[in-house]
Amino acid sequence: MTATVLDGSATARAIKDELRSDIAALQARGVVPGLGVVLAGEDPASAVYVRNKTRACDELGIRHETARFSSATTTEEVAAKVAEYGRREDVHGILVQLPLPPGVDAARVLSLVDPAKDVDGFHPENLGRLVQKRPRFVPCTPAGIMELLARHGIAITGQRAVVLGRSDIVGKPMALLLMHADATVTVCHSRTRDLAAVTREGDILVAAIGRAGFVRAEHVKPGAVVIDVGINRVEKTAEARDLLDAPRLADLERKGYALVGDVHAPSVREVAGALSPVPGGVGPLTIAMLMKNTVKAAGLRV
Ligand code: NAP
Repeated sequence: MTATVLDGSATARAIKDELRSDIAALQARGVVPGLGVVLAGEDPASAVYVRNKTRACDELGIRHETARFSSATTTEEVAAKVAEYGRREDVHGILVQLPLPPGVDAARVLSLVDPAKDVDGFHPENLGRLVQKRPRFVPCTPAGIMELLARHGIAITGQRAVVLGRSDIVGKPMALLLMHADATVTVCHSRTRDLAAVTREGDILVAAIGRAGFVRAEHVKPGAVVIDVGINRVEKTAEARDLLDAPRLADLERKGYALVGDVHAPSVREVAGALSPVPGGVGPLTIAMLMKNTVKAAGLRV
């Protein structure tokens, strides 16, 4: 069997296209959706993520600005910017790019984001609302995965879903969304015993652990839908040889790195019924859902 490719780029394009009419309707009422971004520290991956997110804003006519702080910044400095974005009428959505530098208390900063502008859905109030199944802003990555499943006609009701990873930003909200969609959900993590036996129970398997190529054929039930959330940077050709095909290996040698998922695609492709690729899977959907949440936030203000 060769798994169907779940094309996240195409799904993301469709979501963004649907937003254009909402944005035009807001503009007709004198509102240009605005996103305020905080980027602190020198993490190169964060800089790339913010660039891709602001590019999507440009594409759609969403106003954006980015406040940059060095890695020596303090909780107070970042908190002051978040508070300023919270007060401003022209900023409808606030994005604090994670991870924050070690000297910044991330939990405190996230709790200072105005919950009505919390387009990442990480504020305790929005996470609480999600738990109670009355969501306002849902974290973008798991929300995007739900769109990917829905738009590919993948049934969730009654299915066994296994979520590998229990982070606040992916694993936990993912498990809640799948449970609310009537899947029977199991969450696995680094202390799970006999992991492969558990992940093999999943009709739907979501891998979000941050380990390049970790999920192999033996972790996957034949015919399962596998969603690869991981974005891992590999730099050594030897390390990547087993993960990438020849054109992508050549690309790695040219650029000095390649991005790979948590799923070992060459082997899992032969077992799974459907698989989201990396790149071109969950990543673009995360950005599309950020745009959707920002437009929604602007709509709450009119
Ligand atoms: P995280 O906060 O580091 O959490 C990783 C989770 O995986 C933890 O729950 C950890 O278990 C579990 N884990 C780690 N190693 C494991 C192992 N060997 N066996 C079983 N479980 C293991 O990561 P995250 O923020 O959720 O991100 C996960 C991945 O998704 C990363 O590659 C990240 O770059 C990517 N990501 C992609 C997007 C996107 O837009 N595509 C968005 C967000 C994140 P413990 O809790 O026991 O430590």
